[in-house]
Amino acid sequence: MLQAHGRKGQAALGALLLTFALGAMSAEPSAAPTIERHAPVRLLGNTYYVGTRDISAILIASDEGHVLIDAGVADAAPLIAENIQKLGFNLDDVRTIVVSHAHHDHVGGVAELQRMTGATVVASKSAARALRQGRGGEDDPQFARKDAFAAIEHVGAISDGETLQVGLVAITGHATPGHTPGGMSWSWYSCEKLRCANFVYADSLTTDAAEGFRFSDSTRYRRAVADFRWSFYIVRNLRCDILLTPHPEASNLWGRIAQRDAGKQDALFDSNACRTYSNAAQRAFNDRLEQEKNISGE
Ligand SMILES: [Zn+2]
Repeated sequence: MLQAHGRKGQAALGALLLTFALGAMSAEPSAAPTIERHAPVRLLGNTYYVGTRDISAILIASDEGHVLIDAGVADAAPLIAENIQKLGFNLDDVRTIVVSHAHHDHVGGVAELQRMTGATVVASKSAARALRQGRGGEDDPQFARKDAFAAIEHVGAISDGETLQVGLVAITGHATPGHTPGGMSWSWYSCEKLRCANFVYADSLTTDAAEGFRFSDSTRYRRAVADFRWSFYIVRNLRCDILLTPHPEASNLWGRIAQRDAGKQDALFDSNACRTYSNAAQRAFNDRLEQEKNISGE
């Protein structure tokens, strides 16, 4: 009895030590956020880059309210807010947040930015469902491996081709599914003095997928191939003077900005940029379909 009690006591002490050790571990300073900070950049007229260096967030400003496109990872929200304020704008005036696709690296900061600004969040119907759940649906090619994100309570949905009027900003959503079933690209028009541009924020068109996922014959996302082909066509044919993308390097944004800073005034402009982006994505997609012939499905 005594012995049994002793064992119990040892076990209790062991548990206590373990608890203590775990407590000590969790008391370690948490890892620093991994975002790459970047100062805000005026792209043209009322259109600004306010994201981190590696993940885009775009502000389109007007005297009667602003639109924010995408919000980066969760840790990026304070930087995006700071960048908006550095430009001299009030967070309260961000009235609408729209998103490209519901993956944590682009929408992780939306819940926090919605809290800070009071903005309405708008996405495609499928992305809106994902935003409310805090993760993509099973039809998301990356479903099995993508991190969840903070769920968002009030999300509105818009249809393909619909234009949102936010203050003096008119921004149109174009359904560009494939990378996710709810992917959306956005277009708007901005001017600075006499120079004007059709901006396109073209969603990711890459074929990242969880292991075992095959676009060619997925039973979870049956429209994957047709969706991608649709999106290549749409992006290729958008009126597009300045292309922006959720990952800035996918459209060489920093390279173009460096050229502009070096004096090439029109370095951001390329009316073939959407076509080039779409064609490259289509080639990569076709390669992927070829490779899938050698990958066994789920
Ligand atoms: Zn993604």
